[in-house]
Amino acid sequence: MYQTFIGLEVHIHLRTQTKVFCGCRSAFGDTPNTNICPVCMGYPGVLPSLNIEAMRMGMMVARALSCHIPEKTWFERKQYFYPDMTKNYQISQFASPLGQQGYVDIEGKIGSAIISKRVRIRECHLEEDAGKMIHAGAVSRLDYNRAGVSLLEVVTEPDMETGEEAELFIQQFRRMVRYLGVCDGNMEEGSLRADANVSINLPGEGLGKKVEIKNLNSSRFVRLGLAYEISRQGDLMDAGKPIIQETRLWNEARNETLPMRRKENAQDYRYFPEPDLPIFAPDAAFLQSVDSAMVELPLPRIRRIISAYGLGEEQAGLICEEKSLADYFETAVSQAEAAGLAKNDAGIKIANWLLQDVKRILGKEGMDISDIGAFRLHPARMASLAVMTAAGKISGKTAKQVLDAVAAEDKDPAVIVEERGWQLLSDPAQIACAARTVMQTEAAAVTEIQASATTDKRRSALTAYLVGKVLAATGGKADPKIVNSQLEELLREAAK
Ligand SMILES: [Zn+2]
Repeated sequence: MYQTFIGLEVHIHLRTQTKVFCGCRSAFGDTPNTNICPVCMGYPGVLPSLNIEAMRMGMMVARALSCHIPEKTWFERKQYFYPDMTKNYQISQFASPLGQQGYVDIEGKIGSAIISKRVRIRECHLEEDAGKMIHAGAVSRLDYNRAGVSLLEVVTEPDMETGEEAELFIQQFRRMVRYLGVCDGNMEEGSLRADANVSINLPGEGLGKKVEIKNLNSSRFVRLGLAYEISRQGDLMDAGKPIIQETRLWNEARNETLPMRRKENAQDYRYFPEPDLPIFAPDAAFLQSVDSAMVELPLPRIRRIISAYGLGEEQAGLICEEKSLADYFETAVSQAEAAGLAKNDAGIKIANWLLQDVKRILGKEGMDISDIGAFRLHPARMASLAVMTAAGKISGKTAKQVLDAVAAEDKDPAVIVEERGWQLLSDPAQIACAARTVMQTEAAAVTEIQASATTDKRRSALTAYLVGKVLAATGGKADPKIVNSQLEELLREAAK
């Protein structure tokens, strides 16, 4: 058995309105080469200027990853030639990344694997993205809209050991940056991209020869690519063959990694300080603005929601998958609480509705649970439904129908219940009257209940039968609890 070391380099597009060093619009999917200017096209003599929002968002991620933020941070030119980069260098950070030496805990389940691990973060640095080359048959087209878009690169230490751990890291990192609102996390559009590096060695011998895997554009490919690579390297070690330090590409169609190039070293890029950008020294006010933009992160929020609302771990995890859903949940529960409902009672009811019924209703409308914030079933309506159910005004089964009707008709639950006459009948006298009629028509059952030879089991089956008859007689509107108590009382009286 070999020891495996996996590190990740994750790139995220920061959601700044404009690019990182010029005023061009930063957007995905616009007509090619419409969001460009002399600065991002690298014309001679132009001057970049730092987009302070990109720096702020970068530092928010650094804070969320418990990184040290240095007193001074600056930019370097990383030099290489590629057609998608007209300047022949990329403005990046090398000696003074904006976030340094942090860590993040990852926790969760992938398949049957329960994972809990602290992953050290080496650094977070801010840089510009390159353009995009689109290969079409014999020609290659270049779209420079992406050139100069704010990119934050997060580099981990090689602390992960399996593809599953790396996959979970990506998923939880994605959730975190979406919570922070600094990245949309869309891996298909390339707003979150990951490269993985992996080496294996005999236990205790430290890192092996590092192989980097590129082109991993989903968290699943991260897992599959790493699993393939770990087994490929293991086979080479078994056979006594050398592992070559190189960069390999994940080939989705063939389900394997293929060699791309031998690994270049940092010195090949001839980094040197970018002379056109000043050193950035965040002052107290800037750091304060970073801190005040922070939000409660997913893992602490899951833990708090479990203990505050009595939800199970899995349910709390689902509620916290999207910040908009967790916000919705807590708003609805607090409104139900304000109307007198116990926190746990409201929490469990509302969580169940959200994860089952509301998810289904949204799905029918082609929406996702993350769209809940803008949906007709707003928190106040959910809260009032919880209160009505808890007060016995409607049954749990009716509540689900009310959800559908509220979504379809955009009316408050109380109005729906009133209009359709869905209130539970809870007047004991009315229920007793229905029960008396049922006892007359079902005299045989009543006699059997009262016979001393009848077993307890048989007796409770017969009682349940009578309860069903009374419910049917009231059109399913009678409160089953009251039906039970009234029926028991009448049976006791009849036995005297
Ligand atoms: Zn520009």
